[in-house]
Amino acid sequence: MNFNEFQLHDHLIQAIHRCGYTAPTPIQQQAIPFILDGRDFLGLAQTGTGKTAAFILPTVQRLMAAPGKQVRALVIAPTRELAEQINEFTQTIVRHTGLRSLAIYGGVSKSGQIAEIRRGIDIVIACPGRLLDLHRDGAVDLTHVEVLILDEADHMFDKGFLPDIRRIVRQLPIKRQNLVFSATMPHEIKHLAENILNDPTTVQINPSRSVQSIAHRLFSVDQSQKISLLMYLLSEESMATTLIFTRTKHKAKQLAQKLVHAGFMATSLQGNLSQNKRQQALDGFKNGTYTILVATDIAARGIDVTGISHVINFDVPDTAEAYIHRTGRTGRAGCTGDALTFATGEDNRLVHIIKRSLGKSMSCQDMPKLPDLYSPAHHPKASINTAAAFQSIPKGTEKSSRDSRKQPRRAAQLNIFGLPTAARSKKK
Ligand code: AMP
Repeated sequence: MNFNEFQLHDHLIQAIHRCGYTAPTPIQQQAIPFILDGRDFLGLAQTGTGKTAAFILPTVQRLMAAPGKQVRALVIAPTRELAEQINEFTQTIVRHTGLRSLAIYGGVSKSGQIAEIRRGIDIVIACPGRLLDLHRDGAVDLTHVEVLILDEADHMFDKGFLPDIRRIVRQLPIKRQNLVFSATMPHEIKHLAENILNDPTTVQINPSRSVQSIAHRLFSVDQSQKISLLMYLLSEESMATTLIFTRTKHKAKQLAQKLVHAGFMATSLQGNLSQNKRQQALDGFKNGTYTILVATDIAARGIDVTGISHVINFDVPDTAEAYIHRTGRTGRAGCTGDALTFATGEDNRLVHIIKRSLGKSMSCQDMPKLPDLYSPAHHPKASINTAAAFQSIPKGTEKSSRDSRKQPRRAAQLNIFGLPTAARSKKK
């Protein structure tokens, strides 16, 4: 099957080529015809399946077909990063169509967003809080919305956004098309979907099982050995682009600082950072300035960075679902990936639950022989000064260390199914 079969507008076909897509993914094959027909749609699909294009392409086609008053399409997303990512893709698609899109989220000044809305915006991609805020200020009119899209609905529920979403929905015209995407279907989302959707078509694309291309490895480790093990693995295994998850914001920041101090090109992404810093960290990880990103679960979902070779759970996630989301950041785009988990004795119950829900085995790794303090002297292959990581870290040293001698290189940028990357963010 190819995209021509959907009879999309020429501008959209050209945009799809610009993205480097040759054939629709399964969710696109199944969703696009129904959405083009104007049907309500429930897609059970994770990020990485191509769902953004599945809802943006037919929505843009609909808006191009007939003029209307702004704002005409509203996408609600749970995180600022995801809203930004969807907007980047949308801007690639709407180029030359005369339509305009905008991401709206908190943590940055309202005035820029208000000025953009005044210039005229057809497609708003918003996080719930700031959208309601602007609506209360009278800065955004939602009475002309023709299409409502809820992306990552289950994550919105986790974040406690459902009351906000209900408030937003009350501001919309009753007659509209509704599309809901969710990786899983907890009771509350089922209820919300039933309220919002009108006779929907439902499509399920492997909603909760881990991607087959990921190898899952488990290290049983004492809390005190985790950093030594991490340094050892980063030095001894060839890790191109690595996403490390910690349980707390503070730990993410501290660990990134330790890695920088040890000579790695690392940074952190966590909720204590300003929105600008968060975006800088993510952009730096995407463009290869940093080869290691230490993050909390704000990076577990939705974030699409091509070529992540390794995900390391420095701390075991709280739920099996979070494990699937975290590890789903690797093994994308037709590449293989490695998911490494450091588990202490206290994590046994969680590990058991994760193993059961994974649908494939997790290989238990022998603990490498680590010296008390892992250092290049003990491991001649390592060229970085890992011993330094254990010294106290001066404030403000968390930044790229381009000067370190031998760094893991960034993986080749491939897109889903092994195509050269669409480089959404670069083709703006
Ligand atoms: P998403 O699930 O929307 O976050 O998309 C995951 C990744 O798949 C992104 O890097 C997209 O650019 C890419 N992608 C989406 N659709 C296609 C397609 N039809 N062919 C190749 N890559 C795609």
